[in-house]
Amino acid sequence: MSLLPFDHQPRTRLVFGNGTLTRVGELVREFGGTRVLIVSDPGIVKAGYTARAVGYLTEAGLLSHVFGEVRENPSTEDVDQCVAIAREFGADFIIGLGGGSSMDTAKGCNFILTNGGKMHDYWGTGKATKPMLPLIAIPTTAGTGSECQSYALISDAVTHVKMACGDPKAAAKVALLDPELTVSQPHRVTVCTGVDALSHALETAVTNKRNAYSSVFSREGFKLCHAGFSRVLRDPTDLEARGQMLLGAAYSGIAIENSMLGAAHSCANPLTAKFDVVHGEAVGVMLPHIIRFNAALPEIAAIYESYFDGDLADRISELLWEAKMPRQISHYGVTMADLPALAEMALKQWTAQFNPRPLSQENFAALYRAAL
Ligand SMILES: [Zn+2]
Repeated sequence: MSLLPFDHQPRTRLVFGNGTLTRVGELVREFGGTRVLIVSDPGIVKAGYTARAVGYLTEAGLLSHVFGEVRENPSTEDVDQCVAIAREFGADFIIGLGGGSSMDTAKGCNFILTNGGKMHDYWGTGKATKPMLPLIAIPTTAGTGSECQSYALISDAVTHVKMACGDPKAAAKVALLDPELTVSQPHRVTVCTGVDALSHALETAVTNKRNAYSSVFSREGFKLCHAGFSRVLRDPTDLEARGQMLLGAAYSGIAIENSMLGAAHSCANPLTAKFDVVHGEAVGVMLPHIIRFNAALPEIAAIYESYFDGDLADRISELLWEAKMPRQISHYGVTMADLPALAEMALKQWTAQFNPRPLSQENFAALYRAAL
């Protein structure tokens, strides 16, 4: 295997362990924060996690304010609301506490708060010219890996187009990984985010952008998530397995930052846009078919074989069955007549270009047909 050149600057410090939320005050102080905006969603506020964070910050002598209104798949509207609150409060430090949506809104807010303008100005990479506020990301789901990425995924409130806005300065200073915070999430969230994390490990493992550095994190991310997934399904309070999932998702997030994603994500977005399928389910239902498609390339088949001793596509399908997740897109109301439009949209996805085996619109239609 030839080694592709890479340039990876680790930007995010990882703090992992049960009960590490208690260290949040000390960490904010270390980075010079005094007025801390906590960005979160109503479910997390209700679970009492924001109140706990506020308590630790107060103990450390810091002022804090909670913006707890983040919605799923955050839009420019959510970000604008958050920016208004941050300005009013005079925040000099931001914490994203919750799932990918909370962490993305926190990052999105940081762009506008420090660099002005609107979210669209930062669509792409490296468009922020001024320094940004220090940020701590605290995930409460094991899924997106947003805590280890410099990108915020924000939708246009009108067109619903998802904009990936990234800048090295937007990466969290610290990703605080406390498995205890992931125990209370609803079963369905555990399942969907878990499958998403597994797919991040497997997609990053084979993209044409993969490199020796990202491969380390893809491999370890898969190993951890694969070991933890069935265990958390059986026993949601299994803290060791929760830790495996949380760390595995973060590692897979590091891999995405370096090697992007592939065709399972290209196929998933149209299913979400047109049939309202939850992201993790949309990726999961397509993943076995993408693995079979990519395995036609001998070098990719060899990578899959090194990840799992047996048929990897079948193994993913088995995990979906274990999690009681749909394994056919017809379950969501997709019919043969829908496939051309889905395939056309899939081909236009940003991630399609990174799949190791190039795809035509016909290839995408065939993949959807296989999953029907
Ligand atoms: Zn994903």
